[in-house]
Amino acid sequence: MYDKVCEKCGTRLSSYYQTGMLGCPECYNAFRMEILSTLKDIQRSTEHTGKKLSNGLDKELLDEYKRLLKEKELAIMEGRFSDLREISANLFDLTEELKRRGLI
Ligand SMILES: [Zn+2]
Repeated sequence: MYDKVCEKCGTRLSSYYQTGMLGCPECYNAFRMEILSTLKDIQRSTEHTGKKLSNGLDKELLDEYKRLLKEKELAIMEGRFSDLREISANLFDLTEELKRRGLI
């Protein structure tokens, strides 16, 4: 598979897909289109999950997840790298939790 590399820090696009984390602000420029299209895919899939949420906490977590996805998209477009690191870290933790619960 074709793998893009950030010329500044050497982070690979494939490692971003695995961890959700990037190395430097330049990464967001290098992978911008891929990251944005991935976010759109995830957003779409959460809209049409069709899963019955068993309790209020599930719904809360999923809503928070969607909110963070939108926030991340916005931060990328506006180039707010310091915010992005925090949002990505939160999003990664939340993704793990949602997977454990079988929500995504
Ligand atoms: Zn980089």
